[in-house]
Amino acid sequence: QHLLEVKHLKKYFSAGHNARLKAVDDVSFYIDKGETFGLVGESGCGKSTTGRTIARLYEPTDGEIWFEGRDIVHLSGNAAKQYTKLVQMIFQDPYASLNPRMTVGDIIAEGIDIHGLYSGKRRQERIYELLAMVGLNEEHASRFPHEFSGGQRQRIGIARALAIEPKFIICDEPISALDVSIQAQIVNLLEQLQHELGLTYLFIAHDLSMVKHISNRVAVMYLGSIVETASSSELYKNPLHPYTQALMSAIPIPDPDIEASRQRILLEGDVPSPINTPPGCKFCGRCPKAMPICAEKAPLLEDKGSGHSVACYLYE
Ligand code: SF4
Ligand code: MG
Repeated sequence: QHLLEVKHLKKYFSAGHNARLKAVDDVSFYIDKGETFGLVGESGCGKSTTGRTIARLYEPTDGEIWFEGRDIVHLSGNAAKQYTKLVQMIFQDPYASLNPRMTVGDIIAEGIDIHGLYSGKRRQERIYELLAMVGLNEEHASRFPHEFSGGQRQRIGIARALAIEPKFIICDEPISALDVSIQAQIVNLLEQLQHELGLTYLFIAHDLSMVKHISNRVAVMYLGSIVETASSSELYKNPLHPYTQALMSAIPIPDPDIEASRQRILLEGDVPSPINTPPGCKFCGRCPKAMPICAEKAPLLEDKGSGHSVACYLYE
């Protein structure tokens, strides 16, 4: 049994008269306990909406979400509250997600207070314990978010997410807003906490290089659909979908000789609007390898062996 299983998830938003924005359009994947699943795509591809729907911040338009074998779409009352304790989120902009008028200690204890877990001395001890877990110290508890750097703020966001001992954390672009030098520190911290606490992550990013080292498996999203998914090592060695290949070719390689001899795949045009998308492969208008059939009906995500799946007519 998988820890999380998402089946045919759809999340549509109304976009004015007779228009629907298909933010998430029939997405299926699973995540096993202790694993990190990377979800990658350009902004607007539906990756955050997928994460937020799993966290129950949005109600799905259609589809199923199972956590530890339980249907979490139809939870209510106490069962819904229990689920919100097991699943936490870490956000992209640590500053925007921290209340500037609250002390760091109170921010970290938000979940503890909401769920009435501890008070008084035990609450204070738990705050100190969490600060230590993320590489901060006791003195930081009485300070305010603006006194911290971006990387430290993200550590505060992580401490807040860990406060009520979740099993599963949705990391929504946790390093995208940080300096490159700080990104690796936060990734290392997340990996260390994962091993110590047995956590499972959904790790959302807009760039394949950001999920490469932390993810066991990766899925690439385009306009609300998963176009390719594979183990991390397989995906980086052998990207099949033309969109994944283009994203991959945009990752700089530190060796200047290799870099000079590489072919960049430049995509034409912008990502089309997710409102009232035409039939066929959604990547069709930008794909350098498009064929006549591509515009007619959408290719299905199919397993090409050992868990490497791709939605593209080139492999049929
Ligand atoms: Fe390109 Fe066609 Fe494959 Fe879509 S199905 S990615 S348009 S080749
Ligand atoms: Mg986003």
